[in-house]
Amino acid sequence: MKPPLSLLNPNMPSGSGSLMWFRKGLRVHDNPALEYASRGSSCVYPLFVIDPHYMELDPDAYSPGSTRAGINRIRFLLESLADLDSSLKKLGSRLLVLKGEPSEVLIRCLNEWDVRKLCFEYDTDPYYQALDDKVKNYASAAGIEVFSPVSHTIFDPADIIEKNGGRPPLSYQSFLKLAGEPSFSLSVELSWTPPVGDVGRCEILQVPTLKELGYVEKHQDEFTPFRGGESEALRRLRESLSDKEWVANFEKPKGDPSVYIKPATTVLSPYLKFGCLSSRYFYQCLKDVYKNVKRHTSPPVSLVGQLLWREFFYTVAFGTPNFDKMKGNKICKQIPWNDDDKLLAAWRAARTGYPWIDAIMVQLRKWGWMHHLARHSVACFLTRGDLFVHWEKGRDIFERLLIDSDWAINNGNWLWQSCSSFFYQYNRIYSPISFGRKYDPNGNYIRHFLPILKDMPKEYIYEPWTAPLSVQTKAKCIIGRDYPKPVISHDTASNECRKKMGEAYALNQRLKGLVSEEDLRKLRRKFDEDEDKQEPKPRRQRQKLIK
Ligand code: FAD
Repeated sequence: MKPPLSLLNPNMPSGSGSLMWFRKGLRVHDNPALEYASRGSSCVYPLFVIDPHYMELDPDAYSPGSTRAGINRIRFLLESLADLDSSLKKLGSRLLVLKGEPSEVLIRCLNEWDVRKLCFEYDTDPYYQALDDKVKNYASAAGIEVFSPVSHTIFDPADIIEKNGGRPPLSYQSFLKLAGEPSFSLSVELSWTPPVGDVGRCEILQVPTLKELGYVEKHQDEFTPFRGGESEALRRLRESLSDKEWVANFEKPKGDPSVYIKPATTVLSPYLKFGCLSSRYFYQCLKDVYKNVKRHTSPPVSLVGQLLWREFFYTVAFGTPNFDKMKGNKICKQIPWNDDDKLLAAWRAARTGYPWIDAIMVQLRKWGWMHHLARHSVACFLTRGDLFVHWEKGRDIFERLLIDSDWAINNGNWLWQSCSSFFYQYNRIYSPISFGRKYDPNGNYIRHFLPILKDMPKEYIYEPWTAPLSVQTKAKCIIGRDYPKPVISHDTASNECRKKMGEAYALNQRLKGLVSEEDLRKLRRKFDEDEDKQEPKPRRQRQKLIK
């Protein structure tokens, strides 16, 4: 089959090869790096590197998976790679898989293979920034052309920051004003790619299975219902877009977080995370729907608005040093969070004694995806709402277990939910009891994810510790034995949290953000003394409850 004319580049000497390095961007549609790699090249090496930093089994982790990724996300990635391989085969090529530290593998390939062009999607995550610098430096010194387009996001975060005088915009509205209408054009649809070149002595692998990577697939009930890959992403997208009314009327805060059989939102986030779906293509499809309806919702609540939240967080994350930390992060309030690892462990293990919170945490472990408002509930509960645990610790657990785990978006939302940045109304706390009940009075969501409570009458399902013993016995769930007692009393804990947040905000204001470690230690000591003065002593009482 001959290459389409649009892929021929008269400037490129014939006979030269290209290396297409896939990391995210696991798709053939709207993939400008792949398009450029294919243009005018005699051969293309489509490469994915299995990075031990991310994929190596950690037998000591608190749930199946590697240190950095739960088994659900690793499986999602492998499914996405298998799908990419099959799409490339349809274009006359295939995916080459190698294992090792990516910059070392890349440099070895550039050395051994006939490569004149190195193409990969630009990545703003700090891990890739450091990695890409090494590879780019090597390639430039070796006279290899590097093409690294921005196509993971609709806008180029660097452009927006430049337009704003070198600083990222810190509010969604100012982001929208600066960004304006995007001006991308989707890349050419490929019907052919040049064949794979001679791989020499490199030992190329097939896309591995979980088992081949050393993972035991025994926890079948732990697996997410969402399958990875571009084909599934495009199918899901078509399905969502087929209901034009739904798209036109989409209003984010109005969705029901407890619906799990057919979630209230698109569940396209894991596909956007791995780039199985192009955010630019998604955006364009939404705009096409809008053209054909009389009225539609607008940002921030519309579906386009959701994609722009993603752009907003990418831009702020890219322009903010230490975005993923409290310390050294200029946009983050300095708050003396507690180091209560027992409370953190109870939250992570879905054993807080609050069924709404625990059911969400089970959904996180089993599915790797929860509705946005469910994420709000558990993030608020862990941090400024009830447990006063550091947002970085909750962030780490989300980062490992979510299938859509995304560095910029996850950190941005944890900063937001903990009232550390972007959102400052710390008095507004989600109730772990009434918030869920409002959507799901019968507690179907809880019954599904916490089957130990499946026979608890609906009057008690959100507060099972208030059920008389006879009711607990009949429901075959004795609180304190079969399901934990609450780790804290929400009324007391949330009032304490409001007070602590008020004092921490006052400290930040007084010191104009220049809060030292010592200032934080002093305030933490004061919080501990205040708790010890109280009767009954909640801190000690709390420790007794979790034992
Ligand atoms: P839809 O409502 O269908 O939205 C479409 C797309 O818009 C999403 O796929 C996503 O890419 C984007 N989007 C939607 N909401 C947001 C938002 N608040 N911020 C940024 N982008 C958004 N989302 C992630 O993709 N990865 C994460 O690691 C992540 N961590 C989060 C942590 C916390 C504490 C919270 C509160 C939210 C987090 N979110 C994260 C944002 C949001 O919850 C998910 O993007 C959304 O629930 C995904 O479901 P969906 O694809 O059905 O979304």
